[in-house]
Amino acid sequence: MKKIMIFGHKNPDTDTICSALAYAALKVQMNLDVCAARLGNISNETQFVLDYLKIDAPELIHTTEGRDVILVDHNEFTQSADDIQKANIIEVIDHHRIANFTTSDPIYMNVQPVGCTATILYDIAIANDLVIDYQTAVLMISAIISDSLLFKSPTCTKKDVDACHKLNEIAKLDLEEYGLNMLKAGTNLDGFSHNELLNIDSKVFETAKAKYEVAQINTIDLDQFKKDYKSELLTEANKILADKHLDCYIILVTDIVASDSIAIVGGNVELFESSFNTKLIEDVAFLEGVVSRKKQIVPYL
Ligand code: MG
Ligand code: MG
Ligand code: MG
Repeated sequence: MKKIMIFGHKNPDTDTICSALAYAALKVQMNLDVCAARLGNISNETQFVLDYLKIDAPELIHTTEGRDVILVDHNEFTQSADDIQKANIIEVIDHHRIANFTTSDPIYMNVQPVGCTATILYDIAIANDLVIDYQTAVLMISAIISDSLLFKSPTCTKKDVDACHKLNEIAKLDLEEYGLNMLKAGTNLDGFSHNELLNIDSKVFETAKAKYEVAQINTIDLDQFKKDYKSELLTEANKILADKHLDCYIILVTDIVASDSIAIVGGNVELFESSFNTKLIEDVAFLEGVVSRKKQIVPYL
């Protein structure tokens, strides 16, 4: 029997990677033969966590055909492995909307409206009397801090904060210091091509109105980002738009300290402008207080 593969979405973020690793560690205690896997490159933010723990990234996989798999941190097939429909999905642990997802058999799903997959994993660990070791605790804390932007995102719930503090009784980190260092590591964009920058954290969404891609990039300086990257990234976004036949490409650039964003928009900009009741100025809209793609962008598309 081949191992059950646990993985998160394409363009993996810290929750996707850390939750795959953490859930694998928990599942081993439940006597399941599992391994963590990933569908893409490790971000600088996630690499900070792996370096901190001195552990390797999960194995990069290119096919899931015929395999038993557990999806964490996503369910939409547009965000999963290209051949996910040929895999046998046995579980989903997630905190996103359910969409573009079907299975032929009943499955175990634990989907909660919380800020992070790792928060649900904490629930599962407690409910099953599992041991959370130091490494697993740090992985889960990192995921919660990443998805909640150090508890500042509107997606963050009391349950996320409580789980993080409980986990920190094991990890004993300075959460502010560790968290800010981790988030800042993710704003280092040196060495990325323009295409890679967009793919650090981008997701495709399909609605009745249109098909969109929303790429999110964290920064600590919006003005500098605009100067350094705006026109080049827009050119790249327009190429992807044409390749994937998208209606609209939104580059959401988020200031992780000020908790505001700008959107750089390509394609059918009227769609964006009417959805957000705003006008773009030189392809850019300032979105005050917006940090969450899930809560503050996608529902309006
Ligand atoms: Mg994620
Ligand atoms: Mg997540
Ligand atoms: Mg995210």
